[in-house]
Amino acid sequence: MWGEIVGHKREISILTKVLEKGELASTYLFSGIDGIGKRKVAVTFAAASICSKDNRPCGTCPDCSKIIKGVHPDLVEVEAEGEGEIKIDDVREIQSRIKYAPISGKRFVIINDAHRMTTSAANAALKILEEPPIKNHFILITSMPSNILPTILSRCQKISFSPLTEQEISGYIVSKFDIPEDVARHVAMLAEGSIGRAINLNHESLKTLINEILDVTRSNDTTRLLVAAERWSKDGDHERLPFLIYLLHRFIHNALLFKLGLKDRWGGTFDEVSAILEARNDKDSLIRKAKVLNDMHWQITKTYNKQLMLEELLFTLLG
Ligand SMILES: [Zn+2]
Repeated sequence: MWGEIVGHKREISILTKVLEKGELASTYLFSGIDGIGKRKVAVTFAAASICSKDNRPCGTCPDCSKIIKGVHPDLVEVEAEGEGEIKIDDVREIQSRIKYAPISGKRFVIINDAHRMTTSAANAALKILEEPPIKNHFILITSMPSNILPTILSRCQKISFSPLTEQEISGYIVSKFDIPEDVARHVAMLAEGSIGRAINLNHESLKTLINEILDVTRSNDTTRLLVAAERWSKDGDHERLPFLIYLLHRFIHNALLFKLGLKDRWGGTFDEVSAILEARNDKDSLIRKAKVLNDMHWQITKTYNKQLMLEELLFTLLG
């Protein structure tokens, strides 16, 4: 089970040492950006504590199997519904589940997105954490620790999770999906350390989009640029425009890093676009364009005439 986790060697080694010494804290805070596997580590940690085999978590005993299926009575998980909040009723549900002694000898309560607790839920949670019943352990998971009550934070043993490296993500993407390594590298770079984000990116349309941008950049041809702007602006996918701007921002940013000698070149389509932009612009112009894109990222979803905006954008950037 530990072997299935991508990256986080340091975090896992801290947790396995805790288990070896038998010094489990009553409350942990796992913090780090979304989509890097904090919850998976939390569940595996719970399995490692509850599993009674030598090589724990073995992944096959009845305890491990139930944990993997999400039906173990001693693993309680709470999360907000959709984009909502964790409410006081959710915390009351925890209270009722921890009233009795755990069956396996230990119980774990995982609160996902703990920063989404309402004030009353957080206060109720604080009461539990102030006097946690014996043999119960809490793991609060969050990407926004600053939005959690300081009184709760002060009771937690904190483990902060690093973003995954581009190599860790591209290795995972290649092993899980049938995509070539250079596309996996693009995905890894755009995922910015989050494996969840890497999985959610549509790899095929990413490849197409990058090739289209390369085509426009290479040709430096006004007609092609206008055609591309029209096509992209008519795309029904609402996620696509902000993503396109994000992508262009990455190209410019990459070009700037090349210019400053701060990044190695991988070769491939992505670097080719950046190299063209690097050759056409001086440092100040790249910085200025990066700023334009950054501002535009916030405006695009509100803009009525997306085509006009995209044309302007492409002329500024690629022209
Ligand atoms: Zn087991």
